[in-house]
Amino acid sequence: MNVKQIDAEYVAGTYARFPVEIVGGQGCTLCDADGKAYIDMGSGIGVSVFGTADERWLNAVKAQLDKLQHASNLYYTEPCARLAQALCLATGMKKVFFSNSGAEANECAIKTARKWGCENKGAEYFNVITLKNSFHGRTLATLAATGQEGYHKDFLPLTPGFLYASATDASDVERLAAENRCAAVMLETVQGEGGVVALDADYVAAVADIAKKHNLLLIVDEVQTGNGRTGRLYSYMNYGLTPDIFTTAKGLGGGLPIGATVFGERTADVLTAGTHGSTFGGNPVAAAGALDILSRLDEELLANVRAKSARIVAALTGAEGVKGVSGLGLMLGIATERKAEEVLADLREEGVLALKAKDKVRLLPPLSISDDELDRAIEIIRKVCAK
Ligand SMILES: *Cc1c(COP(=O)(O)O)cnc(C)c1O
Repeated sequence: MNVKQIDAEYVAGTYARFPVEIVGGQGCTLCDADGKAYIDMGSGIGVSVFGTADERWLNAVKAQLDKLQHASNLYYTEPCARLAQALCLATGMKKVFFSNSGAEANECAIKTARKWGCENKGAEYFNVITLKNSFHGRTLATLAATGQEGYHKDFLPLTPGFLYASATDASDVERLAAENRCAAVMLETVQGEGGVVALDADYVAAVADIAKKHNLLLIVDEVQTGNGRTGRLYSYMNYGLTPDIFTTAKGLGGGLPIGATVFGERTADVLTAGTHGSTFGGNPVAAAGALDILSRLDEELLANVRAKSARIVAALTGAEGVKGVSGLGLMLGIATERKAEEVLADLREEGVLALKAKDKVRLLPPLSISDDELDRAIEIIRKVCAK
């Protein structure tokens, strides 16, 4: 049996995989088992911030791998401590809890909101307002937090304590906050899985005001939008927000699993010894890699992300077969006249690997993609969309 057949036989059928077996790559190029090269416009769903086999990241990971691979959270380890420090110094936040995925980072945020609500408002103040069309993960609590029925069916009953508000009409958030006992409101500033939809700035400002008025924690899910993806270190910075908690994962790992729940002043000391944990959380190898990623997301790189974004938007807006371009930074959704699946298949044929989000073609290239590689990808996307 070849790899595709073994996978089909033995790996749980939860993924509708593209018919490509990736065996390696370098930078923004990925290679399949037949030796075909592709321009990477998906970065493993926003993970490979500096592409594949990035030398600096690899060196940071390898050096740590040779020294200490795992110790558990019974002990202090340097990469974990330094990464938490770096996250806080870069954002003004106060403390970090490390896990291994976006869903886990959100689970921790939800647990923190419940404990905070109980301690500060009363035991019945456990509800978390999330937005329609949101995506927060696949575990039972984050599934319930996700405001899309399509993900819920088959897994009822949902974990209680979530209320879904309109992602465009802030008066709906106000109504839910006034009518229910709530601990927090949680949002993605750009709804990624929901179709790469950036929330309106006025709406977000209104939600922040409502959170203040009703004494709700403001939680921002930066799992996909974070770590430079939208042209700011974290996407809430595009909106001038001060979250009480933000969560991140995907790009922070740069290729290894990591999740981080980052606490502000009001939430820094909510979780105490024994209230939460994760065996692998803060793993030294993953943390050493993340520390390298974070150290390179400087203003120059972020300005480059914004410039490359503008380049893509300018080239695709109004192009033949393109109905519109949405999103922020290098997190873009292309509404195409042809079906997204067909566009993606043709792109693969032409040597470009992109993603889907709802009915759109989604682009999440490595942030380090060169103008040259980007222009080549754009040319192919324009050609395929116009077919
Ligand atoms: C991907 C994603 C998650 C889930 O992350 P996993 O690492 O797959 O658990 C949660 N929230 C958002 C916004 C995401 O894009």
